[in-house]
Amino acid sequence: MLPAFFDSVVELVVKTSTDLPPDVRAAMRAAMGAEPPDTRSSQALTIIAQNIDQAATGEGAICQATGMPTFEVHVPRGSDQIWMREQIRAAVSKATKMGKLRPNSVDSITGENSGDNLGPGTPIIHFDQWEEPDVEVKLILKGGGCENTNAQYSLPAELDHLGRADRTLEGVRKCILHAVWKAQGKGCSPGAVGVCIGGDRTSGYLHAKEQLFRTLDDTNPDPRLATLEASIMDAANRLTIGPMGFSGQTSLIGCKIGAQNRLPASFFVSVAYDCWAFRRLGVRLDASTGAVKSWLYREGTTKSTPLVAAGAEVEGFPRTGREIPLQAPIAEEQIRSLKVGDVVLISGRVFTGRDAVHAHLMKHDPPVDLRGGVLYHCGPVVVKEGDGWRVTAAGPTTSIREEPYQAEILKRYGVRAVIGKGGMGAKTLAGLQDSGGVYLNAIGGAAQFYARCIERVTGVSLMEFGTPEAMWHLEVRDFPAIVTMDAHGNSLHRDIEQESGAVLETLR
Ligand code: SF4
Repeated sequence: MLPAFFDSVVELVVKTSTDLPPDVRAAMRAAMGAEPPDTRSSQALTIIAQNIDQAATGEGAICQATGMPTFEVHVPRGSDQIWMREQIRAAVSKATKMGKLRPNSVDSITGENSGDNLGPGTPIIHFDQWEEPDVEVKLILKGGGCENTNAQYSLPAELDHLGRADRTLEGVRKCILHAVWKAQGKGCSPGAVGVCIGGDRTSGYLHAKEQLFRTLDDTNPDPRLATLEASIMDAANRLTIGPMGFSGQTSLIGCKIGAQNRLPASFFVSVAYDCWAFRRLGVRLDASTGAVKSWLYREGTTKSTPLVAAGAEVEGFPRTGREIPLQAPIAEEQIRSLKVGDVVLISGRVFTGRDAVHAHLMKHDPPVDLRGGVLYHCGPVVVKEGDGWRVTAAGPTTSIREEPYQAEILKRYGVRAVIGKGGMGAKTLAGLQDSGGVYLNAIGGAAQFYARCIERVTGVSLMEFGTPEAMWHLEVRDFPAIVTMDAHGNSLHRDIEQESGAVLETLR
């Protein structure tokens, strides 16, 4: 057996979760340079940059949504794949105990969280043999927010704003642009897309995800696909969806396209969307010991260059002086005075609640008084410390999943503010107007940054739902967020979707 294999895989998981590779950092640096200062997008990117640096320095999860671990393993002939699979599973369990991965594996029928990221289908491990002498292990951690924005098209198709997409590369181009437009900020833009032309429904999605193992700055060896990738990058960044869907210059940091043969009757285009927290790394291991021989994607060094330049005057949230402090519980009058575009700094008690909590509140009274309260769509990473708890990662989760419940919960329990990311729909917008509430967009993926805004954990309810789904009682200070849906019927998300849709029309 390979004595160092287990430790090498643990190191790979930890590094992947906590330290973005140089190509992604370079793309985010370019995105920062493209946004004019003092815009919502530049504020968002400044927070993201700090978050990336904080995660690497403190070895904390870049985003609390550490996602579905997907391993691609290449082994020389004669390797014991059964043993390696067991070791990889054990390494995932260990990284979860260390707080580097959030427990994310949930029984699809009972909703029970396995607590260690192990379960049927989790993690995903693909083995391939090759002629090389080493073992290669690549890993991608892709969260649910961006996974939910994946899209698959069956051509020919009629697409909003783009018209008919035929079974041609031009039709493929329209599908990819449509997928980026549909995603808006829900997948934590600026994102990257892996695309498969062809295959069947399952192999298409798999090959699309495999494209995300390419570096963002490589060139497709197929000149037809290289041209298509360049054209998508140019067009997608004219959509002005921008970071977090706040409007801006950079909506996409990468487009990687592959092709698979298909049946004559089928023509699928599968799009795998990944967020800015593009966590992908790999190692080459000595096949006799399992020790790391080299790191992939890291340009020969495991040391990262910080995104915030040393000595730069960026510490915490970049303030303009126009921020509005909100102390929870919050009065209806103050909430109704807020309007889209306002930046708020929340202090006081905030309660987390995501899918399980929202479903629960439709049938049961809340375990705490939510009147005037702030509900945070967040599944944090929390570690036990003595008798208490400490949050180590706590960014927002995608809010649109709570659309069927949110308006009712606002009305029934007097919640005044909902924090999340990606925005919500027409039903919630009407609910905010009726009940006197606001939707506050926090910066998706900024788990380290927001963890530092949490002064303490004062309690937890509904722990039977598992750590990410429980209702955590948090005391926060100066937690920054942007009003993107107000109590007057305004929605930045709706506006940007319409504006970017109009741009899409020009790209047909
Ligand atoms: S950055 Fe956003 S989309 Fe990506 S894993 Fe985190 S919450 Fe999900």
